[in-house]
Amino acid sequence: MNLSSSPSHSQITAIDMAPTGDNVVVSNMKLERMLSMKGGNGEASYVNNSQAQGQHAQSMLHLLREILDGIQINPEADIPFVVADLGCSCGSNTIYMIDVIIKHMTKRYEAMSYNPPEFSAFFSDLPSNDFNTLFQLLPPYGGSSMEECLASDGHRSYFAAGVPGSFYRRLFPAKSVDVFYSAFSLHWLSQVPDIVLDKRSTAYNKGRIFIHGANESTANAYRNQFQNDLAMFLRSRSEEMKRGGSMFLVCLGRTSVDPTDQGGAGLLFGTHFQDAWDDLVQEGLITSEKRDNFNIPVFAPSLHDFKEVVEANGSFIINKLEVFRGGSPLVVSHPDDAAEIGRALANSCRSVSGVLVDAHIGYQLSNELFSHVESRATTQAKELLENLQFFHIVASLSLA
Ligand code: SAH
Repeated sequence: MNLSSSPSHSQITAIDMAPTGDNVVVSNMKLERMLSMKGGNGEASYVNNSQAQGQHAQSMLHLLREILDGIQINPEADIPFVVADLGCSCGSNTIYMIDVIIKHMTKRYEAMSYNPPEFSAFFSDLPSNDFNTLFQLLPPYGGSSMEECLASDGHRSYFAAGVPGSFYRRLFPAKSVDVFYSAFSLHWLSQVPDIVLDKRSTAYNKGRIFIHGANESTANAYRNQFQNDLAMFLRSRSEEMKRGGSMFLVCLGRTSVDPTDQGGAGLLFGTHFQDAWDDLVQEGLITSEKRDNFNIPVFAPSLHDFKEVVEANGSFIINKLEVFRGGSPLVVSHPDDAAEIGRALANSCRSVSGVLVDAHIGYQLSNELFSHVESRATTQAKELLENLQFFHIVASLSLA
């Protein structure tokens, strides 16, 4: 399907829910109420464009298992073992990872000849997340006893619940969660910093829609926002985690010291996507001010940016904190097919930023924008495939 063709069923739902785009500036108050990955199961949906994230998460399974091995097991307690995925979105990645965590913990109990406890899994994301699609992907609960659950394939062996809210605030009761897992989510800021939207400020991001290649003050404002957000995240989790619990976090990261070089995120949002916004301005479809008021609220931190916050917070022991080469966000079946690569980039970009773009310029112009992304990416397909690589920060933390 061409991106500019008529909307599919799931896209219509997105139109119905999104503001019209006429002079809508996505104010900071609104971001946490409207941000989501593209719901439904259309061509540019997150469900259909998150295979790369799934593969990157799988390449880190050995690190996840390491931290699970360190979790304290309490055979006496007859309370559930609680796992929470923060920023779960609506794809199958979250279901897969929750399953891995629960199976691994079950094996640990069994290896110690204890009966496994009941498991509870919380799928948490912002309220605008497509929880319906997620819940429909969940396998049915396995049976009336733990043994039955474990014996039945294609079933889940845990009680599931959705938790709407921002992970930059409290989401769970104190001391109630054993394992927090969060993948590819913490690079989303709670807001675009106010000064980046203020024309009088040196941090005003004139001419750009992301900080890749932007001026230093804009990038520093983003870094401060990231660090303040992460501090809030850690403070909330330190209250919610049970003693002996652990946390496994993965987010986009960068290898450069310079925050205006956002690495893979920079290539995704700072090149063809940026040029496509400029195309709309040049074609007179939007004003340059309209473009300048749009900013992708993503920040890929360096290891140092991340570590500073964890150390200042002081509640967690760092078991592991490293930058991990993730690979490309593009999953294509014919690497020589430039058109497929162009489409994959446009879909990948739209699946994560489409909801924000629709709200800012409306659905029709958003179609136009992403078809520009697609055609620009198609002409640079070979370079994209070679150069578009994501790095991730991987942090495994336990309560100090
Ligand atoms: N973990 C999933 C999805 C990652 S997409 C996977 O591995 O495939 C990133 C998710 O983070 C999105 O669903 C987005 O809505 C969510 N997110 C972004 N900011 C958030 C916040 N402040 N609180 C909760 N979730 C947030």
